[in-house]
Amino acid sequence: MSPLRLRQVHKAMTRPLHIGLLGAMPEEIGSGLSHLKQRSSTHHGDLTLHQGVWGDGVRLILAWSGWGKVCAARAATRLLAAAPNLDLLLFTGVAGAADDALQQWDVVLADAVMQHDMNASPLFPRFTLPPLNRDLLQPDPDWLAWASRSLDAAQTAGELKGFGAIRPGLIATGDQFIGDAAVLQELKAALPDLQAVEMEGGAVAQVAEQEAVPWLVLRVISDGADEAAAQSFSDFVHVYDQRAWSLIEALLKRLSAR
Ligand code: SAH
Repeated sequence: MSPLRLRQVHKAMTRPLHIGLLGAMPEEIGSGLSHLKQRSSTHHGDLTLHQGVWGDGVRLILAWSGWGKVCAARAATRLLAAAPNLDLLLFTGVAGAADDALQQWDVVLADAVMQHDMNASPLFPRFTLPPLNRDLLQPDPDWLAWASRSLDAAQTAGELKGFGAIRPGLIATGDQFIGDAAVLQELKAALPDLQAVEMEGGAVAQVAEQEAVPWLVLRVISDGADEAAAQSFSDFVHVYDQRAWSLIEALLKRLSAR
């Protein structure tokens, strides 16, 4: 068992689980707030952190960050400061597909994230994050395996209506809405395993790594990161609002099966 996992198990034995949820937009957490008991909130400029209890005593802290890496890192940092003993920080939201096999509504659970616009060469190779000296960030294997099992079980039980296939994969983050097949092609050439592109996950993961907090990134495909992306995205996001919470709940209700 990894030292991180040992710490988590010890923490879980001594107090209720505390989970952080971040999305870029309110739609990505869906009706989440209405499911919380003992709700309270704190305001930090234009960012609101919502706290409460879900189900049988899981403590939740959640927020929507706004688009992009700066907003995501800022929200993650505020959230971790407000909840210093967080067991898991989960980012959920929508993303553009980078693999032709992916369809709208398919789900990618990141087995690695990276920042496709990080480039400190020649001092570091392209994509390498200087403070961590690596390009790929990988979630804790036990949390990843739990999330993967939980989503599969939820799908088999018919709890994920409207969602497509669920698969693990590499997600790339950058401060760019990718709506151009040529831009996507260049990225895929550099990152052959790439599944999806978005604008926050890699930033949240970096903050969580540097703060030694377990993290996961879960993304639903909204568009094909091509010329039709902006239109597909706008249509999609309204329906997504109604479905987003079912994805989060599928995980929360299986926390005791870790
Ligand atoms: N121009 C779009 C804005 C979407 S980008 C519009 O018309 O509304 C907003 C969010 O969706 C970001 O938080 C990002 O993480 C995610 N996203 C979805 N598809 C994306 C894509 N193709 N490229 C980058 N980010 C994408």
